[in-house]
Amino acid sequence: MKDDTILTHAGRAPLSVGSPVNVPVHRASTIRSPSLEAYEANERGDAMYTNVCYGALGTENAFALCEAVNQLEQGAGTVTASSGLAACTLSLLAFAGAGDHVLMPDSVYGPQRMFCETVLPRFGVETSFYDPLASGADLETLIRANTRVVYTEAPGSLTFEMQDIPAIAEAAHRHAALVFMDNTWAGPLCFKPLKVGVDLCIEAATKYIAGHSDLVLGLMTARTPELYRRLRAFCVQMGEIASPDDCYMALRGLRTLRVRMERQFAHALKIARWLSCRPEVRQVLYPPLEGAPGHDLWARDFQGGGSLFSIVLPKMEKKAVAAMLNGYQLFDIGASWGGYESLVELCHPVRTKAGRREPVWTEDNCTLVRYAIGLEDPDDLIADLAAGFERLRAAL
Ligand SMILES: *Cc1c(COP(=O)(O)O)cnc(C)c1O
Repeated sequence: MKDDTILTHAGRAPLSVGSPVNVPVHRASTIRSPSLEAYEANERGDAMYTNVCYGALGTENAFALCEAVNQLEQGAGTVTASSGLAACTLSLLAFAGAGDHVLMPDSVYGPQRMFCETVLPRFGVETSFYDPLASGADLETLIRANTRVVYTEAPGSLTFEMQDIPAIAEAAHRHAALVFMDNTWAGPLCFKPLKVGVDLCIEAATKYIAGHSDLVLGLMTARTPELYRRLRAFCVQMGEIASPDDCYMALRGLRTLRVRMERQFAHALKIARWLSCRPEVRQVLYPPLEGAPGHDLWARDFQGGGSLFSIVLPKMEKKAVAAMLNGYQLFDIGASWGGYESLVELCHPVRTKAGRREPVWTEDNCTLVRYAIGLEDPDDLIADLAAGFERLRAAL
């Protein structure tokens, strides 16, 4: 089946008399059984992979969401996590242990970088940060005998570096390392990491999948049944759980993922093109934009994508950029993205820069502003941005 059909039909209950279209919210701790025999049969062996056994192992809403997302990702199984960040961190904890080494792109999502720097060392796992622009051959020089995971994220957080995911996956597999990808920007419709060899695909469902800025949720989809079973068992052992209400809302969001993302992508491209012609803007960091860094890899591997990008402005005093941001009528200032509304944020990328090709955009050499483009009319957004540049000029 094609993705749009999966989006509409996957994860819905079989038709019976009186059934609503959506799986209702099943809030539960205890799951009742009519007999001891039925109770024991429902929990025996592999039951937790297929049956609703206990609230902390997920109710119908988690199973329905995982079923739909797994079909879209073309995986062997999907596991929920309480947030996108929990999905990022649990993926490493499930597969890396004392004595292991993991490779992280220097442009990785900031809180995941912090986890690698502060938590993983306590468990004897060492992290190295690598140039996100590394080729497969570059990466092979960094992989050690104990490298357990090569982690990827494309485009990178805040600075939008594209990665050559198929080449990285091939190089990592040559050395028996696992490959994980944070695919939140493209989501399950615009890039299929598992199809190019990625072993574990992570989505912050908080963003486009939920799509309405009203919940936090993470998803991990495994390429093989072995990886799926290990991941599911680990999350159950950790007591990791996503609420039935959040799973319900995420699945409801998923139904309209295509129409929202396509529309937001078109708006973002129009606005990015306009921004790239502004004299104030040194560079627009949006791989779908013609001539932008990473455009070729994006065009080769992705079908559309997110409506999130950054612009590089000259380094300036905080009060000048504050004048621009504070006066926006349509762009709210706030963390997160992927909702139906436009947002703006001043970025503070942390980078090791180790072995990296220039330019590495940081606060030392520029002012980086990130925009999430929503469903508003793009011409209204452009007018808001134009007025912002006037305030910026007046404040400089
Ligand atoms: C937001 C985000 C996350 C974390 O998601 P939360 O649900 O906010 O914890 C992970 N990765 C990327 C790329 C993100 O943008």
